[in-house]
Amino acid sequence: MKYLYILGASGSIGTQTLDIVRNNPNEFKVVGMTVGRNLEKAKSIIEEFKPEIVSFRTNDIPELSYKPIIVFGDEGLDEVAKYSKYDNEILVNSLVGISGLKPTVEAIKVKKIIALANKETLVVAGDLIKDLIKKYNTKLVPIDSEHSAILECLTGEKKEQVKKLIITASGGSFRDKKREELKNVTVNDALKHPNWSMGSKITIDSATMMNKGFEIIEAHHLFDMPYDKIMPILHKESIVHSMVEFNDGSIKAELGYTDMHRPIAYALRYPDHMNCESKYLDLFGLNLHFEELSEERYPTLKYTKMVCEKGGIYYAVLNASNEAAVKLFLDQKIKFLDIEKIIYEEISKDEYKNIAYNLDNILNISKEIINKLLKKYGD
Ligand code: MN
Repeated sequence: MKYLYILGASGSIGTQTLDIVRNNPNEFKVVGMTVGRNLEKAKSIIEEFKPEIVSFRTNDIPELSYKPIIVFGDEGLDEVAKYSKYDNEILVNSLVGISGLKPTVEAIKVKKIIALANKETLVVAGDLIKDLIKKYNTKLVPIDSEHSAILECLTGEKKEQVKKLIITASGGSFRDKKREELKNVTVNDALKHPNWSMGSKITIDSATMMNKGFEIIEAHHLFDMPYDKIMPILHKESIVHSMVEFNDGSIKAELGYTDMHRPIAYALRYPDHMNCESKYLDLFGLNLHFEELSEERYPTLKYTKMVCEKGGIYYAVLNASNEAAVKLFLDQKIKFLDIEKIIYEEISKDEYKNIAYNLDNILNISKEIINKLLKKYGD
């Protein structure tokens, strides 16, 4: 039996993780969960899975038919991450934003396996997380479809024989628009992702291509690959979830239906493929296309490179400025193209360069930048 703690249980990845638990009751048991603001949904999943510990956003909570341990807010996230009673515990972290970092650290310290969907954890603190994973002798497996695909392609292979990791990008909701057409696009336009149904933050990050920048940074940490061996590529069909090219010219790819159940199940069972909850890919009539991704069209790719060169605390600066800018855009305080402008302004500043790269500084500077930008551009 595998014991699960799901952070962000009522969100998109959380809900799909619960589908897998529901279909495999002899394999998985939910011990802890954290839920968001949709209390009706929260109540229904809590009653169905009866976790021992639940964290709510605020103390406004629904009436329950039993008495789990109840915790709240950001401390509540840490409490659920820390709670540990069984062997074989897995933390599924599907929180959005920097708030996912601290709970990951807490869960590693109690030796839970980390199934990671929260991007920010590795983007801002990749080296620290890797050290902790080693120190506490546990492991971290990615849930994201691209990294799941690369993990699968690399399994059984030697790192020094890898020429390139090729990360596919769907191009997001504005992929068929030119830059000058992006000036006045709306939030609703941006939220219409052509291939994947995801939360709003990541859908906007896909439209700006910042998401792919983050995935490059994550891949660097997850697979110990230098940045010059990681290449993003435009693949509008999202059927090839990513590829690995080897020195002999051979390319391995992972293909599948665009459904996150598959990468989630793979992370929970890695390296096994067992019962499949995903839909099957119909190979007949498949028509796959690959195009170069332009840094002129998607400047966030250029900014990612800038930040990877600077390193250290600048990863947190990149993430925090993006996190604030996306929130401002979703709240209709700024325009779509302002997102990249705000990011560029922040990562170009020299003032951050003397801040040491450690967990406290990462958390503090992130909060500081987010608050500063929300105040500056909000009302
Ligand atoms: Mn992805």
